[in-house]
Amino acid sequence: MIWYPYQQMKTMKDPFQITDANGVWLYTDQHRMIDSISSWWSVIHGYKHPVLTAAIHAQADRFSHVMLGGLTHEPVQQLSDKLEHWLPGDLNYCFFSDSGSVAVEVALKMALQYYVNCGEIQRTKVLSLTHAYHGDTFKTMEVGDDEDYHFILEACGPSPHVFHIPPEISALEKAIRLFHKELNCLIVEPLLQGAGGMRMYDISFLKRARELCDQYGVLLIFDEVATGFGRTGNRFVADLVQPDILVLGKALTGGYIGHAVTVANQKVYEGFYDENPDKALMHGPTFMGNALACAVALKSIELFEQEDYMSKICHIETATRREMEGFTDPRVKEIRIMGGCVCLEVCDSKVLDGYQQFAYERGVFSRPFLNYLYAMVPYIITEEELVTVLNTMKAWFSR
Ligand SMILES: *Cc1c(COP(=O)(O)O)cnc(C)c1O
Repeated sequence: MIWYPYQQMKTMKDPFQITDANGVWLYTDQHRMIDSISSWWSVIHGYKHPVLTAAIHAQADRFSHVMLGGLTHEPVQQLSDKLEHWLPGDLNYCFFSDSGSVAVEVALKMALQYYVNCGEIQRTKVLSLTHAYHGDTFKTMEVGDDEDYHFILEACGPSPHVFHIPPEISALEKAIRLFHKELNCLIVEPLLQGAGGMRMYDISFLKRARELCDQYGVLLIFDEVATGFGRTGNRFVADLVQPDILVLGKALTGGYIGHAVTVANQKVYEGFYDENPDKALMHGPTFMGNALACAVALKSIELFEQEDYMSKICHIETATRREMEGFTDPRVKEIRIMGGCVCLEVCDSKVLDGYQQFAYERGVFSRPFLNYLYAMVPYIITEEELVTVLNTMKAWFSR
């Protein structure tokens, strides 16, 4: 029996049985629907992309996986070379893992051990944002501030290892002034906080964060598992403000296979580079650098460049703004749009009860959560398909 994610199994309605998928379309036996959330924001090129599928086939004909402990191979080397050149500045050192949560764990471990290696053992604390989401494993839940995990606060009380602040410059300045001696890092989802409710904040916060982190020797970590690969309308937010450690996941493989990467800059890498084996990074997921994942990720990045996705995303944003212009409803608290993300926050989550079925009947797959009705479409979506998604959202309020 399958235990489904984020679900009360007792009251869960049957999930849709998917039998095929192509482009933006998901197929059931009777029906088809546009995937308006790109399978948890990962399937940026749509389903069954011929280039990506061919890359997996070709690699599977050689080998699907070999461990990265003591062995290496061309797909992982090519992907790491590509990322080294493609990512900004000296974000050059790629540590692969099998999921975003693990890649964030690795980033946090790196930040902590960096300071232990440097002899600053008092720097054990993490600064992070209210409403942050960084994954489902224990340390990522601890640095996160997701309402769904507040049962942990009940069970264990607030963590003594993490300080949470809102993404406001005054709060940041205060926290750094008070705690900088104990902090090893500040971790953020830059510009767009995803699972915490598609909350958006200004780049000035990140610019100030970079200055203060430099001034007080705190490492800056960007969790771009959700925001990376164009979602905010920037290729990476790291192109605007450079972190010391960058985490990528979700869209890394175009949604074909779970894989993620933690990318360190020169300074962080040098904190581990030594004759002393105790200073090595002690981590190694079984499936890190999986050959199928690396082969498809490399092709996914090549497509991203060749097909000029940044202008496609710009077009999605423009069309979304145009379609949402003038739309208001007393039940809608706020409409937020950034790049390839649109979110309608409603005043009461009950307003969204029944939306998934309503959308299904109109040929759209959607999965609202809490007070948030959102879309993060595949970038290959046509304007007509995008308008269908947005009209379905609006139509819910004019029944
Ligand atoms: C989804 C997500 C993660 C976790 O990634 P998984 O692959 O689901 O473990 C971490 N950080 C952010 C910002 C995410 O959106």
